[in-house]
Amino acid sequence: MIYICLMFTALNSPLQQLNHPVLTDLWIKRDDLIDPYISGNKWRKLKYILQDAAEKGKNHLVTFGGAYSNHLVATAAAAARSGLQATAFVRGEKVLNEMLLLCQLYGMNLIFTDRESYRDKQRCFEQHFAGDISAYFINEGGASAEAVKGCAEIIAELPQDLDHLFCAAGTGTTAAGLLQGIRDAGLKTKLHVIPVLKGADFIRDDIQKYVPETASLILHTGYHFGGYAKTQPALLRFIRDFSAGHGILIDPVYTAKMFFAIEDLAAQHYFQSHEKIAALHTGGLLGIMGMKEKLL
Ligand SMILES: *Cc1c(COP(=O)(O)O)cnc(C)c1O
Repeated sequence: MIYICLMFTALNSPLQQLNHPVLTDLWIKRDDLIDPYISGNKWRKLKYILQDAAEKGKNHLVTFGGAYSNHLVATAAAAARSGLQATAFVRGEKVLNEMLLLCQLYGMNLIFTDRESYRDKQRCFEQHFAGDISAYFINEGGASAEAVKGCAEIIAELPQDLDHLFCAAGTGTTAAGLLQGIRDAGLKTKLHVIPVLKGADFIRDDIQKYVPETASLILHTGYHFGGYAKTQPALLRFIRDFSAGHGILIDPVYTAKMFFAIEDLAAQHYFQSHEKIAALHTGGLLGIMGMKEKLL
């Protein structure tokens, strides 16, 4: 409990202006700088999840993810720093990569699970942890009401007069939190969400499960570049140019697709030149490791 309080003390990640030839009021919220391993939105999501676990007297976090999951690394690091145990069901056959190496260094126990069994997460949990009162279930990517609450707090750390706020989306939990924060504060800000999955119109429904009123939400479903963790030469080029041009790394799975979308919308004169725009850098830079051959 003491550890958790120390780790999740209030923070204000920096808000930096981004130089742009057309957009003169463009900002980047550097949640990637919160921590290299409990990165960006994963820190935001875990904050109240860990608090809930502590309140319920649970000391073993059990969660789920693919072999390149930022959420697994974040959970492993958060558990280690909070004096908790951690286990992850990892989708697919046994592999070792940079992310899973970090998980293991942080003491996380990995259970490689075939894709069929992995689908029923509750069943995986019950098969291994039935009767284990110390075990605490955390859904894939940390998707939960607690995660929404943690992400909603980002809004108070941003200018209240934003016209547009951008974020990348996997499950849409982060987007739901931002939308909640915008609603709670009564802001006029439009939330622009860039799903990284193909055909992700379902995200609106998923967001609505947490936040019923979605009038401020704009989905841009055309920037998936082929789907989750898929890429194309134009995106890889964009990552190199952005990183070298701004001195800010972006990851190929999430944030690169979001920044590409902003650039593309600006080129289409989607924004008015005086509008105030912010992009949430949700971190996840270890994702670069999953695409190192392509990025070279
Ligand atoms: C996990 C992750 C996301 C997706 O967050 P959701 O809440 O699932 O939509 C976005 N960006 C980065 C860098 C991530 O690691």
